[in-house]
Amino acid sequence: MQADRFRRRLSEAEILFRAGDAGQEAYVIESGAIEIYSDHGGEHRVLALLGADDILGEMALAGDQTRTASARAIAPTVLRVITHEYLSERLNQADPLLRHLLRITMARSRQSLQRALGNTAVAEQIADVGERELAFKRLRLEQDLQRALDAGEFLLHYQPILRLMDGSVAGFEALIRWNRGGQGLVPPMEFIGVAEHSGLIVPMGHWIIETACAGLVALQAACSSGAPLFMSINLSIRQFSDPDLFPCLQRALARHGLDPGRIKLEVTESLVMENLEAAQALLQDCKALGAQLAVDDFGTGYSSLSYLHKLPMDTLKLDRSFLRDISVNAASAKIVRAVGALAIDLGMDTVAEGVESAEHGRLLREIGITHAQGYHYSRPLTLEAALTYLGGRAAA
Ligand code: C2E
Ligand code: CA
Ligand code: CA
Repeated sequence: MQADRFRRRLSEAEILFRAGDAGQEAYVIESGAIEIYSDHGGEHRVLALLGADDILGEMALAGDQTRTASARAIAPTVLRVITHEYLSERLNQADPLLRHLLRITMARSRQSLQRALGNTAVAEQIADVGERELAFKRLRLEQDLQRALDAGEFLLHYQPILRLMDGSVAGFEALIRWNRGGQGLVPPMEFIGVAEHSGLIVPMGHWIIETACAGLVALQAACSSGAPLFMSINLSIRQFSDPDLFPCLQRALARHGLDPGRIKLEVTESLVMENLEAAQALLQDCKALGAQLAVDDFGTGYSSLSYLHKLPMDTLKLDRSFLRDISVNAASAKIVRAVGALAIDLGMDTVAEGVESAEHGRLLREIGITHAQGYHYSRPLTLEAALTYLGGRAAA
C-alpha cells in the first residue's frame, strides 16, 4: 500500500535502527514509545525516552550520516516517516543561509553527542564549502544592500522610449543601478532578486518611485517640444503586498506636481498571472488614480492575451527575445505583426524592447509597432546624460 511508505509499525522491543546504520529517514512518533540507547563498551545506557509527537533520527538527515545511537520500541509503536529525499527537497528550497545554519547546528550537536557517548569525535566536514560560500555571499549581499539604501548608493538610469512614427521621445524607463561602495555599477539582475527575497525591495521601491518622479520633472523641463513625457517604473512581485506602495505613489505625484497619467507602471506578465488577485487590486487602484500600466517582457512567459482584458493595461512591451529573429524569419515577423495588431485592437500601444539596429526599427514600424526602446536609440543614461540627450535632440 502506497500510504504505508510513510508509516512504520513496530512491535514491543523491535529495533528501529542501530548506532552506525546509515540514516535515511527521521520519524515522528504517532503513538507508542521509543527508547534511544547506546551499548557503548558493552554497557546499556538509555539516552532518551520518547513518546507521541516526539521526533527522532533527525540528525542523520543533515547529510549522508550514520546513526549515533540506537533506537527501539518499548511498546507497540506507530511512526510517521520523513524521508531524506523529502527533507532535502524542502531544504533546497530554503534560504541558503538557513540551510547552512541548520547543517552546522546538526553537525555540532552530533559532535557533542559523540563526545558525550565517549566516542572519539571524528573531525567531520561540517558543511559543503560551495554551500557555505553561497550562504555567506548571499548574507553579505543582503547586508550590503541594506547599508546601500541608507548610504544613498542607488541611482536610476533613464532609457528613452521613442515613437516609431516620427522618432520623437515619448518617455523614459527608470532602471536601477547600484554603485556598490562607490566601486562601480552593479546591474539590477545581480541584486533585485535578493532585494525581493529580503523584503528590501519595499523601501527601495519607495525610493525608486520618488526618484523617478523627480527625474521626470527634470527631464520634462529639458524637453523643448513641451510634449508631455512619461516615466516607466518597474514593479516587482513583493511590492504588490506593500500597503504603502499606493500612498507612496500618490505622495510622490503630489509633491512633484505630476499628473498620474505621466507615470507608467511596468509589471511582467508572469508576475501578474501568478498573483492575479493581489495584482488586480493594486493595478486597479493605480489605474483609477489615472496612472498607466504596461505589461513587461511580453513573449517570455505565458504570452497569453486572454488575461489582458481582466486588467486595464495601456501598453504591451514585447521582449527582445521575441524580436531577435524578425528580420530573418518571416514567421516571427508575422507573429509580432499579429500581436501588435491585437494590442492596438485592445486599445494598447506597443513597445519593442532591445532594438539594436536601424533595420529592426524600420521593420517594427512597418509591421505596426508603435514604440521602441533599445541601444540603437540610446542606452540607459544617467539623469545628466539624459538631459544632454534631450538638449542635443532639440538642437538637431
Ligand atoms: P527590463 O524591465 O526588461 O529592462 C530592460 C533591460 O534591457 C534593461 O536592463 C536595459 O538596460 C536592457 N536593454 C535596453 N535596451 C537594450 C538593447 O538594445 N539590448 C540589450 N541587450 N539590452 C537592452 P537592466 O537595466 O540591466 O535591467 C534588467 C532588469 O532588472 C529589468 O528588465 C527589470 O526587470 C529589472 N529592473 C531594473 N530596474 C528596476 C527597478 O527599478 N525596479 C525593479 N523592480 N526592477 C528593475
Ligand atoms: Ca521594464
Ligand atoms: Ca522588459
